[in-house]
Amino acid sequence: MVKEIQLRINLVEELKEDILLQKSSKQLGVDQNEISAVKVLRKSIDARKKDIIFNYKVAVYIDEKIPEKSDYIFDYKDVSNAKEIHIIGFGPAGMYAALRCIELGYKPVVLERGKNVQNRRRDIKAINQDHIVNNNSNYCFGEGGAGTYSDGKLYTRSLKRGDVRRIFENLVFHGATEQILIDAHPHIGTNKLPKIIENIRENILKFGGEIHFETRVTDFVLKNQKIQAIQLENGNELSVNSVILATGHSARDIYELMHKKNIALKAKSFAMGVRVEHPQEIIDQIQYHCSGERDELLPAAAYSLVHQVNNRGVYSFCMCPGGFIVPAATANGEVVVNGMSPSRRNNKFANSGIVVELNIDKDFKKYEEFGALKGLEFQKDLEKIAFFAGGRSQTAPAQRLVDFVDGKLSTELNETSYQPGLKSAPLHSLLPKIIGGRLRKGFVGFGQKMHGYYTNEANIVGVESRTSSPINIPRTANLEHTQIEGLFPCGEGGGYAGGIVSAAMDGERCAEAAIAKL
Ligand SMILES: Cc1cc2nc3c(=O)[nH]c(=O)nc-3n(C[C@H](O)[C@H](O)[C@H](O)COP(=O)(O)OP(=O)(O)OC[C@H]3O[C@@H](n4cnc5c(N)ncnc54)[C@H](O)[C@@H]3O)c2cc1C
Repeated sequence: MVKEIQLRINLVEELKEDILLQKSSKQLGVDQNEISAVKVLRKSIDARKKDIIFNYKVAVYIDEKIPEKSDYIFDYKDVSNAKEIHIIGFGPAGMYAALRCIELGYKPVVLERGKNVQNRRRDIKAINQDHIVNNNSNYCFGEGGAGTYSDGKLYTRSLKRGDVRRIFENLVFHGATEQILIDAHPHIGTNKLPKIIENIRENILKFGGEIHFETRVTDFVLKNQKIQAIQLENGNELSVNSVILATGHSARDIYELMHKKNIALKAKSFAMGVRVEHPQEIIDQIQYHCSGERDELLPAAAYSLVHQVNNRGVYSFCMCPGGFIVPAATANGEVVVNGMSPSRRNNKFANSGIVVELNIDKDFKKYEEFGALKGLEFQKDLEKIAFFAGGRSQTAPAQRLVDFVDGKLSTELNETSYQPGLKSAPLHSLLPKIIGGRLRKGFVGFGQKMHGYYTNEANIVGVESRTSSPINIPRTANLEHTQIEGLFPCGEGGGYAGGIVSAAMDGERCAEAAIAKL
């Protein structure tokens, strides 16, 4: 017999080896000898009160063995000689589209502009140390896409869009720890992601798929509104039947190409703002109600904040406890920030995007001439402002938090995790009012919700501009582009995902749709 129960364990109890067995036995009134195993299904932290509690959901096996195999089986087939599906981009959407093709007996041919994870590292170093951005290989482009040098947070709200558990199990199949199946807010960490991504690549190649790195797609050949071929930067042209377009939301050249070719695109609302960085200790003390260091059983504390200002949400986005702010520009001449964390989240800073909801119909009047690209052009302008304010390098413009709200240039900045360095700048006057004005009120509101958050010990760093796609590539109910037969817009670039897991799920769905069309 298997019984699922909830257990509440405090920090002292958590240290006891058999605590789950003891508590399960007591709660169920079953002798410990009759319990063959207690399997943790879910673990979360309840830190609302000073006495912090771990909430466990467990399955108690009474006179019964734990099944050895997972319910999820990934049955990959040799597809070397199977029909081909072309996939542009090898981020989470492209990777999971490729894996799904193999499961269903089709051969994925992946074209990725960036380098494999190993070689990508050098370009990442060049951004951080020499301020040189390679526009094909950077924090967003290359094997694993924007998800490789990230926090690897796997939390998603897109529960209705696919089987989230299937993606988690597949990540475990490719080397992620089983902990991600249990944690309420699982994350992998940037130090562990490259190996998992390499395993996925090896698996695709082993079963006969093809992956071509340093191969940028530059044009589509269309005939009678059907995609016939794709052109590559190296001069080659490939005939195609079905193409999954999984190029992410930083592939501006792809949006521009489609716009130029009159392929339907729609401007879409998105959010923009800054990244805020506090010493992790401040966030721990607020969230765990402690003074000094947090208990060693507790992970670096996270937060999630939202505040309404003039009918728009100002909210925290992609919070990275114990993490680093990273330069996520995809070209020289722009500054973009984002965040990542190692698996242990043991860096001394906590950073998070703090962004303002923008309304595509109301906020971009000056950009109307750009049509579907209006949000993108606005995004570009803000990134250029950050570049010039930062000193025309990857050094980012920054201000102390209270100074920003008070409209005062910071004479000194706090220490930071951002490797290319910070330059003091008047972000309060540089950011457009629709963003800056709301952020200033938002931060004060956050300080009222989390006492100690609103402090000059925090820096804000500009600009957090790539939260989600400013463009939607429209598709029909069968996931094909509304105009172009054989083209399947996919993942974050199409406007169909907002993170690693949702992009991966959309990749699987697009593979199924592209195959159904063959
Ligand atoms: C620093 C950072 C941290 C993040 N942290 C998290 C996190 O913790 N959790 C989370 O859920 N999300 C996080 N995200 C967001 C997440 O990475 C994206 O939502 C996700 O990667 C989108 O997947 P995708 O496959 O749709 O696109 P992408 O990951 O953007 O992949 C697109 C791929 O297409 C390639 N490409 C583009 N143009 C071309 C072309 N013309 N020809 C060939 N190839 C092309 C690119 O090189 C890229 O590899 C983070 C993003 C960044 C930048």
